This record gives sequence, structure tokens and C-alpha cells, in this order.
Amino acid sequence: MNTSDHAAALLNAVHVPNDAGEHDVAWDGWEQAHEAWCERLDAYRQTPEGQERIADLDRRVELAEGLVRTAEAPAGVTCELCGTPGSLHRTPARAPWYKTLCPACAERAGYVPAAEAHGAA
Ligand SMILES: [Zn+2]
Repeated sequence: MNTSDHAAALLNAVHVPNDAGEHDVAWDGWEQAHEAWCERLDAYRQTPEGQERIADLDRRVELAEGLVRTAEAPAGVTCELCGTPGSLHRTPARAPWYKTLCPACAERAGYVPAAEAHGAA
């Protein structure tokens, strides 16, 4: 893997979107440390312990992703304050906070339906 591949992989790992706009990425100062780290990691991945631990990490990530997927759907339609059916609401501010709320909790908390608030701020 060359340095630009490493930089691309690192940018991907920190989730810098392609449309993030102009940004100056200067990796030169970290290049040696980064390459040394990658070599250590690659060597560790080849050991039985490394392979076992990476497989364990993969299983944990898969489990966590499954838990997140099963929680996302109910979270989007359940009021986070009282547990009754709800929908996405936001504060009317220009830089709003968002919550999934039922109409009663939304009114008490000063939130408005997110869909109706578009363009109103
Ligand atoms: Zn509620």
C-alpha cells in the first residue's frame, strides 16, 4: 500500500465525505509514524493471536451493527420521552435540536414536526 492509499484509507476511516469541500491534507509530518504503525499492524494481523483478535472484533462489530439496526426503526417512531407513537420533531431555531416525540410531548417541550418546519426558520 502506498502513501496515498494510506491517506485515502485514513480519510475513509474518519468519514471525511467526498463532498466536504476543499481541505488541505498534509500527511508528510506523519508519514513515517503512519507507515511504521501500518507495518506493526500488518505484522500483528499475520500472527495467530492477531487473526483471532481481529475475527473477534469482526464478530463484535457485526453484533453491534445488528443491535443498532434493530434499535433504529423503533427509535424513529417511538416518543423518546413517554414511549407512545411519535415522529421526528425539531426546535424552531435556525440550528435546531431534533427528537422523536409524540404530539403531546412535542407541544410541552416546544418542538414542532420536522417536516412542517422546513423553510420556516
Ligand atoms: Zn411522548
